Amino acid sequence: MKLNRRIFLGSGAAAAASLSAPALLAEGHDKPRVVVVGGGAGGATAARYIAKDSKGAINVTLIEPSRTYFTCFFSNLYLGGIKEIDDLGHTYGTLAAKYGINVVHDWAVDVDREAKTVILAGGASLPYDKLILSPGIDFVDGAVDGWSLAAQNAMPHAYEGGSQTELLKAQIAGMPEGGTFAMVAPPNPFRCPPGPYERISMVAHALKAMNPTAKIIVADPKPKFSKMSLFQEGWLTHYPGMIDWIGEDFGGGNVSLDPDAMTITIDDETTNIDVCNVIPAMKAGRIAEIAGVTDGNWAPINATDMSSKADPDIYVLGDSADQGDMPKSGFAANSQAKVCANAVRGALTGSRVFPAKFTNTCWSLIDTDDGVKVGATYEATDEKIAKVDGFISATGESADLRKATYEESEGWYAGITADMFS
Ligand SMILES: Cc1cc2nc3c(=O)[nH]c(=O)nc-3n(C[C@H](O)[C@H](O)[C@H](O)COP(=O)(O)OP(=O)(O)OC[C@H]3O[C@@H](n4cnc5c(N)ncnc54)[C@H](O)[C@@H]3O)c2cc1C
Repeated sequence: MKLNRRIFLGSGAAAAASLSAPALLAEGHDKPRVVVVGGGAGGATAARYIAKDSKGAINVTLIEPSRTYFTCFFSNLYLGGIKEIDDLGHTYGTLAAKYGINVVHDWAVDVDREAKTVILAGGASLPYDKLILSPGIDFVDGAVDGWSLAAQNAMPHAYEGGSQTELLKAQIAGMPEGGTFAMVAPPNPFRCPPGPYERISMVAHALKAMNPTAKIIVADPKPKFSKMSLFQEGWLTHYPGMIDWIGEDFGGGNVSLDPDAMTITIDDETTNIDVCNVIPAMKAGRIAEIAGVTDGNWAPINATDMSSKADPDIYVLGDSADQGDMPKSGFAANSQAKVCANAVRGALTGSRVFPAKFTNTCWSLIDTDDGVKVGATYEATDEKIAKVDGFISATGESADLRKATYEESEGWYAGITADMFS
């Protein structure tokens, strides 16, 4: 734990933004205070449930730098031309107006665990009784030979919502006829296990329509991936000859990149490429590390309530958490947030706390109306969130069933975004 007040209080931006600090602190001294860092799938849900269910008994502050949250979920469908970018954007007005959540658009830059305060880039210091961290992911700089965070516009990851996704889409649209799209897939564990492969499907879907002689290369450091047989069946059916997936056995992990020359070298063979989507290794959002609740790349938690193993007054949700068997998904973060909200409310107001139960389903679209899914239910054990029961789509399913699966995913998207923001 460290407190670097001098660094940000000294900056001009901090001095200007700190004018708003007294307003942030004026309320809530007579009520328990919950601060939530990160207004995404985990954080927005937790803030909403605590504020909604406590009916004003808890003062809830949500810290999120962006005024519009663009979901990563369904961002591949935007790349495929099936959704528009505006379909993915959500704002925080209802959380403030309907539930009285104090929404602050700023970065949390430090946590003082002794004083129980969160420090913002703008200079404000927010006291908390319980702190919830759901900052998503950060990327491991230099995770791929030749690639660094400085190259993320030349070779975008598009693994955080919004502008990176738009950049990747523009690059795909600008590919020359018969050009080559390359993806470097990430090592485990990472955000959304089927995400890179749904993306390959949606990029192929777009290229088939606008650039049908284009090629796709995937360099993958793993020998297998989520829903592999379903994706490979779909690629053969819809995009024959277009996708070359190079797994670990064929050198998929032995990759270097040259963003200036736009080349990829896989197992000593160098290929010129037109677009390169580098999805690097991931780690917990940096504020979790700054707060001192990470162990290695992720933040260990207690599965009964998502509290940090390092600090009982801090909770870690979603992708940042080292929680056990759940995949790092929006559905998982939303499910964990409800368990956490119930536990936090119970701890602060004495309300009833229900046993933790978690669910997740990950849908993926392979081609128009060709949706597949994988999911499971989970429970809390002493060691982790443990899988109880699961299901997965089968190869060879009928077109009607695949269409119904896609429609189910659309219902889920509407439901989860309402559960976060409305
Ligand atoms: C291509 C793709 C497709 C996906 N598809 C699916 C899908 O179909 N289904 C599914 O369930 N999941 C899907 N996911 C995964 C899903 O997006 C994530 O698992 C989910 O968003 C994680 O929620 P989170 O709350 O941990 O992080 P996020 O939703 O990323 O929210 C983190 C928030 O914290 C904010 N933040 C970070 N640091 C700070 C700080 N210091 N101060 C203040 N705010 C901060 C960020 O601005 C961000 O808004 C997909 C992901 C990708 C990349």
